[in-house]
Amino acid sequence: MSGAAITSARLDLMLTELRLPTVKRLAAGLCAQSDREGWPGQRLLEALLEHEMNEREVRRIERHRAESGLSVDKRLSSFDFAAVPTVSKAQVMALGEGQEWLDRGANVLLFGPPGVGKSHLVSAIGNALIDAGRRVLFTRCSELVQRLQAARRDLRLPQELAKLDRFDLLILDDLSYVRRDQAETSVLFELISERYERKSLAITANTPFSQWGDVFVDPAMTLAAVDRLVHHATILEMNVESYRRRAAQADQKASQSKHSSATKSGSGKSS
Ligand code: ADP
Ligand code: MG
Repeated sequence: MSGAAITSARLDLMLTELRLPTVKRLAAGLCAQSDREGWPGQRLLEALLEHEMNEREVRRIERHRAESGLSVDKRLSSFDFAAVPTVSKAQVMALGEGQEWLDRGANVLLFGPPGVGKSHLVSAIGNALIDAGRRVLFTRCSELVQRLQAARRDLRLPQELAKLDRFDLLILDDLSYVRRDQAETSVLFELISERYERKSLAITANTPFSQWGDVFVDPAMTLAAVDRLVHHATILEMNVESYRRRAAQADQKASQSKHSSATKSGSGKSS
C-alpha cells in the first residue's frame, strides 16, 4: 500500500468517526481539484465544510418531513385559493413562512364543512414550515386523544405531553370527530393548557365553537379551552361548497360538453 493510499484510508476512518459523510464522499475529488488548481488551504476546507452543512440541513428537513405524518402532496402551490374567497392567500402564505407566530405559540383554527380543503390547507402550511426548518406533527385529533388517554391510564401523561413539546406546530385534524366518551378524561384540555402561549396548535373543525361542548367535559371547560385557543389565533373560515363536489361537477360538465361538441362536429356543423 502506498503512502497516499494509507493516508486516504486513515482519512476515511477519521471522517466516519467524526460523522462527516459528505466530506468523506467528496474529499478525494475536491482535494485533487485543489491540488490541480492550487487552492489556498482555507478554500478547500471551506468548500468541504459547506457541502457537509448543506447536506446536513437537507437530511434534517427530510427527517422532519418523515416524522410529521404530513402528506407531501398537500402544498400551498397546489391549493386553489380562488375556490375559497373568504381566506386571504397573503395571510396563509405568511403563516407558511412565519417564524414569529410559532415563537409566540400562536394558533390557527380552520372551520368549514367537509370537503372544503381544511386538511389540505393546514397540511400545506405544515409542509411550508418544515421547508423553513421547523418541526411539525400532523395527527387526527381523535387518535391523539386516544394516545393521551392511554398515557394517562399508565400515569405517563406528563411525559407524553413533554414529547409533543419538540414540535413547533401540532396539527389536530378534525376536532369535531372526538367522541363524547373520549371527552370524559379531558386530556385534550390538558394539551391545550400545556401548550398555551408556548407552542402552537392548528385545529380543523367542521362545527363552530358553539358545538364544541361535545368534545370537552362540561361547559366551563369548553369555554376555558376556546378562550385559550382564540387568545392568539388566526381563524380561517372556509364556508364554501365542497371542493370535491365542485370538482366532480366540473368534470361532469367537461365530459358533457366534450360529448356534445363531438356530436356537433360529427353532424358536420361548426360553431
Ligand atoms: P376537508 O378537510 O375540509 O374535509 P380536504 O382538505 O380533505 O377537505 O379536501 C378534499 C379534497 O379536495 C382533497 O383532495 C384536497 O386536496 C382537495 N381540495 C380541497 N380544496 C381545495 C382547493 N381549494 N384547492 C385544491 N385542492 C383542494
Ligand atoms: Mg379534513
